[in-house]
Amino acid sequence: MRRRLAVLGQPISHSRSPAMHTAALAELGLGNDWSYEAIEVSSQEFEARVRAMPGEGFAGANVTVPHKLAALELADDASKAAHSIGAANTLSFDGGRIAADNTDASGFLDALPGRPSGSEALVLGAGGSARAVVWALVTNGAEVRIWNRTPERAARLAGELGAAAVGPSERPRTASFDLIVNATTVGMGAAGGGAASLKSLPIDADSLGERHQLVDLAYGPAETELTRVARSRGATVIDGLEVLVRQGAASLRIWTGQDPPIETMRRAATSAWQPTSAPDT
Ligand code: NDP
Repeated sequence: MRRRLAVLGQPISHSRSPAMHTAALAELGLGNDWSYEAIEVSSQEFEARVRAMPGEGFAGANVTVPHKLAALELADDASKAAHSIGAANTLSFDGGRIAADNTDASGFLDALPGRPSGSEALVLGAGGSARAVVWALVTNGAEVRIWNRTPERAARLAGELGAAAVGPSERPRTASFDLIVNATTVGMGAAGGGAASLKSLPIDADSLGERHQLVDLAYGPAETELTRVARSRGATVIDGLEVLVRQGAASLRIWTGQDPPIETMRRAATSAWQPTSAPDT
């Protein structure tokens, strides 16, 4: 039987995951046996939709906004990452059980040029993606400080995951970090107010240099202001598209057991750009 895969979210029509995974399945020689589609589903319908999927030939699914928490809650088994982060973006259906995983964390780590052990990291943001990033960094030996526009959320997240928070009246010193991660919506086109809102992040662009690694989870058809500035200062830049590709690749490995073709996925994700704003996966 043909094995189906999907991404579930709302909205979902502009997701790059179907293009990315369809290209990868073809490259792996699985194009005739596997398929990947986008399914728009509301929060009210989510659980019933997921529970029906194994009977419809689905082997697994990616889950994006706003269902990552619900995906974890309905699963029979959860990986340590999904459990600790409190959210799942990957479901696998096997023998009547639903397994939950979180490849936002492993995908983020895979996108880094090296392991973050021993590095001083600054994470901007305290929302869903910041949770996955902070967990990935802390469990891999980085010292993490969290800055957030609403400082109470940074303090709460830091307390939960073993990081430190930047205080309300404090401005982090850009120069003192090895790794800086933007996990806010700033820079995310319409959602974040565009390039001008880089000013709302506590980054001292003049202090960025060759010793820095900068990850911007935001992505769009054009380079973000933050990645442009960091690149011009000689920093090593990892953009949101790379993180997107790596989380997709990690999901594909879980479902198929095969090594995903990263370059093919990168190319397909890039060429799937739409002129409007899009969901994360
Ligand atoms: P959430 O809505 O959970 O969190 C949003 C965060 O952005 C909060 O910390 C919020 O701060 C902050 N924020 C919003 N507006 C501003 C502003 N004007 N100035 C400063 N901070 C602001 O979003 P997610 O964590 O799900 O997503 C964050 C970003 O990461 C998005 O751009 C998303 O598209 C991207 N992303 C990319 C992925 C990838 O694979 N590349 C995967 C997942 C996400 P406050 O708490 O004060 O509201």
